[in-house]
Amino acid sequence: MSQQPHNGPDAVGEFLHDLLLDPARHTPGDPAVIEPAQPGHAPAVTTYAELGALVDSYAAALDALAIGVGGRVVLEADTTALSIAMLLACSRAGLTFIPVSPGTPHPRLLSIIEAVLPDLHLQSEDGERADVPASVATARFGPNGLLVARSPAPRRPRRRAACVTDPAYMIFTSGTTGHPKGVVMSHRAVVAFYRGMLAYGIATPEDRIASTSPLQFDFSLLNIGLALGSGAAVVPVPQQLVRWPRHLIRVLRETGATQVNGVPSIWRQALRHEPDRLAGLDRLRGILFCGEEFPLPELRRLQHLLPHARVINCYGATESMACSFEEVPRPLPETMEKLSIGIAHPGAEMLLVDDNGAVIEEPGVPGEIHLRSPALFSGYWDDPEATRSALVPDPLSPQSGQPVLRTGDLAFQGQDGRFYFCGRTDAQVQINGNRVELGEVERRLAEFPGAAAAAALPLAQPGGGLQLTAFVVLARHHELRDVGDLREFCAETLPAYMVPQEIHLLDGLPTTSNGKVDRAALAERVTDGHLTRADPPPPTSRPAAAPTQGRAAQEPPTATPATGHGRAR
Ligand code: ADP
Repeated sequence: MSQQPHNGPDAVGEFLHDLLLDPARHTPGDPAVIEPAQPGHAPAVTTYAELGALVDSYAAALDALAIGVGGRVVLEADTTALSIAMLLACSRAGLTFIPVSPGTPHPRLLSIIEAVLPDLHLQSEDGERADVPASVATARFGPNGLLVARSPAPRRPRRRAACVTDPAYMIFTSGTTGHPKGVVMSHRAVVAFYRGMLAYGIATPEDRIASTSPLQFDFSLLNIGLALGSGAAVVPVPQQLVRWPRHLIRVLRETGATQVNGVPSIWRQALRHEPDRLAGLDRLRGILFCGEEFPLPELRRLQHLLPHARVINCYGATESMACSFEEVPRPLPETMEKLSIGIAHPGAEMLLVDDNGAVIEEPGVPGEIHLRSPALFSGYWDDPEATRSALVPDPLSPQSGQPVLRTGDLAFQGQDGRFYFCGRTDAQVQINGNRVELGEVERRLAEFPGAAAAAALPLAQPGGGLQLTAFVVLARHHELRDVGDLREFCAETLPAYMVPQEIHLLDGLPTTSNGKVDRAALAERVTDGHLTRADPPPPTSRPAAAPTQGRAAQEPPTATPATGHGRAR
């Protein structure tokens, strides 16, 4: 046990690690993390006792660095037993962790570091990140503990007691200003969310919950919280395997996964190319999806292949981790055209607000979802203006001073009070479950030397899902040697899922009568075939955009992908 005085049993309230390490006291021998192994080898099991011991040793090592309560740690890692132990150790040591994927472009990591001024950068033993700014201490973690490469500068501690209102973690998501936006989440908020989620009984201690989302997205923290909070096991699926249906199915089979949690697009290739193998997953009892609507034809097919699996539609945003869980009818009625996102979890409430700020009571009338909840984020890091526009006075009780979350999501209520998602109020889109601010992509494209204007939009792909498509206008006398250069330029700073998969060069962007970019006209030009792709990348080019949540995957060493798919172009 770490002997920190600030965060012990006498602390008021519950911290992230208190909740998630509880099973280590009651069921220490049960599996907490089950990691897939190479084909033919048994998965690696970490019990709750072992996880607890790892957390103890990491927390002691972090304490020894004397960063002090309230310090910030960039945790650059995939989801593994060790990184789960490390984030819990950060929580135990009173440090805020900022999860970052190892594939993050270096300029993006630097912009996060510049914004949060972390005390420490942590990566796993085999991490490849170099050139972390000299102002930041660096260390690696492995099964034997922490290996410090650069110690933090000694300084006088300014805090003594950790509070549940302290930030537990910060998640960086796409931002309109051209920089990623840091969503700050307190211990109190994340524990309130976990408690609300656990009240649904989505998992039991016998479950093995496959988490397919990278650690940098809070969906992975949701999965870790659901598994450990239920005394179940989390099964982290390596990112490079998620989009190879045969590997994904093998991993699910070999680890005995009973539940799979991920964005809807993780199923697309398996449904198309491996239906028999998918149907053979007879231990699978639950599927939880989040991040975007599940296309109903694909969902019907999934239900047909896995009739015993209960499917849960989880709705919400990073600003409250999530918000509602709704079981999908099994089988989906033929007449059903839209899935419900249900109602907010216990202890929280969704309300719909119209353009004038009035609360909508009648069913069927769309409005913007506002969320009243103890699980709201604290604010955007160092961005009071953006925080003010998201955390707004409660429309029913503005005098109370208690904010609600203005989500930017549109929905209407059914006769039974359930909510139905129906779009966004702004230019935020979900591309294969990844949150993308079109403005951030457009800004980057417009920075390209010689670019005069740029627009980006999601367009439906023939095989299902949305593809990020961009339109660029070059300044006079500028020519482009290869449109692929534009993609390379984007990939230098943007995560793979934000790099447009298709880019068209235009002489000008069409505008509406009020002078805005006419996105509908742009979409029409592509769908009408008036434009052809200007940039078929050569077959050897590296993947630019992942079809599932997270970074572009590299081909696994022994993979045989189903034909005609699997690689991002
Ligand atoms: P998450 O990690 O939960 O997907 P993000 O912050 O990345 O959260 O994205 C949040 C946005 O994704 C929501 O505001 C909403 O627009 C969309 N979204 C999330 N879940 C769903 C869902 N089940 N159905 C429809 N849209 C969803």
